[in-house]
Amino acid sequence: MARIVMKFGGTSVGDLDRIRNVARRVKAEVDAGNTVAVVVSAMSGVTNTLVDYCRSISPMHDAREYDHVVSTGEQVTSGLLAMALQELGVEARSWAGWQIPIKTDGTHSKARIVDIETDDLVARMDRGQVAVVAGFQGIGPDNRVTTLGRGGSDTSAVALAAALKADICDIYTDVDGVYTTDPRIVSKARKLNKITYEEMLESASLGAKVLQVRSVEMAMKHGVRVQVRSSFSDAPGTIICDEDEIVEKELLSGIAYSRDEAKVTLVKVADRPGVAANIFGPLSDANVNVDMIVQNVSHGGGATDLTFTVTKGDLARCVKVLEDRKADLGYVELLQDANVVKVSVIGVGMRSHAGVAQTMFSALAEKGINIQVISTSEIKVSVLIAEEYTELALRALHTAYGLDAA
Ligand code: ASP
Ligand code: MG
Repeated sequence: MARIVMKFGGTSVGDLDRIRNVARRVKAEVDAGNTVAVVVSAMSGVTNTLVDYCRSISPMHDAREYDHVVSTGEQVTSGLLAMALQELGVEARSWAGWQIPIKTDGTHSKARIVDIETDDLVARMDRGQVAVVAGFQGIGPDNRVTTLGRGGSDTSAVALAAALKADICDIYTDVDGVYTTDPRIVSKARKLNKITYEEMLESASLGAKVLQVRSVEMAMKHGVRVQVRSSFSDAPGTIICDEDEIVEKELLSGIAYSRDEAKVTLVKVADRPGVAANIFGPLSDANVNVDMIVQNVSHGGGATDLTFTVTKGDLARCVKVLEDRKADLGYVELLQDANVVKVSVIGVGMRSHAGVAQTMFSALAEKGINIQVISTSEIKVSVLIAEEYTELALRALHTAYGLDAA
């Protein structure tokens, strides 16, 4: 007998039949003697529609009202699932975030969970009642509903699992686990049995869309065992866990990519102290997130090119900030390119193995793919390349690192 948290994403509760399917899965866990809390997303597409409503009625909408509107999708599914469970003879009740309460900070539309009170929940679960919790939402210090940012019900589930000291947090979705890379692009991608928190955190941050980044941070911090698995099959999924739990460590856990990148180059920036601060200070003030940066050493002339990347959504704002300061910054020209993709190889094995980056560079060179920017950390190497080479690069790298399925 275990205490488990089961989380179902939008496609898993996409229509009434699917909600009934979820109810059967939950019932199976209850029948096996487990105590269960379920966290649900809104039915697929619903949150997008609600976000569109807000944007249409008021482009500069009040974030508190936005949260009030977009949090409703989860309220619907939690109530429907509780009913579906009751139809199967399972005792269940729905919980909105504020009822538990799931307390968050006051950052409306991307709030952080600060505390979850579980006494009432636990008492009822111990009596055999399934708690069906609306994901994505909480209550802020202003006593109003907050939401946790898109994809936030993953974080609701992991936070609840941590608060309940659950044995596992099963994240049910429309894929059957975490893959070495995107199987829609690389047909030889393999499902991983296990992946470390760190690797999962890197892949989520570098473009893999399986889990919200914050949910992985939270799982790592609290040591919550997470399993990503399919709501449409009984196959075991991928366990996200500590490194020492993984016996057969591979060099790489996978290859991630993100098309949400744009490259900016400032041509002939003065090469003297304070220049980087003058450029990146105003960008950060304007909430532009800068990711990869390269600057060359100037050869004699005292000027050098500076290249960096931002998200596509931030590009226009970034260009505006820099053009407004052109005289001040003293660059000659600003070049921008949104046709780029960032490809990253990730693996904790890199800490103890040399030559990982070299394998990447040669594999890309062999295909004639030019590397525009490089950045590394302890467990990943990222390169920026032209977007049209995404598929080619992913396949070549997958083979070069020996990740292809047999
Ligand atoms: N329904 C919310 C969204 O679409 C939260 C979630 O599904 O995780 O972003
Ligand atoms: Mg999701």
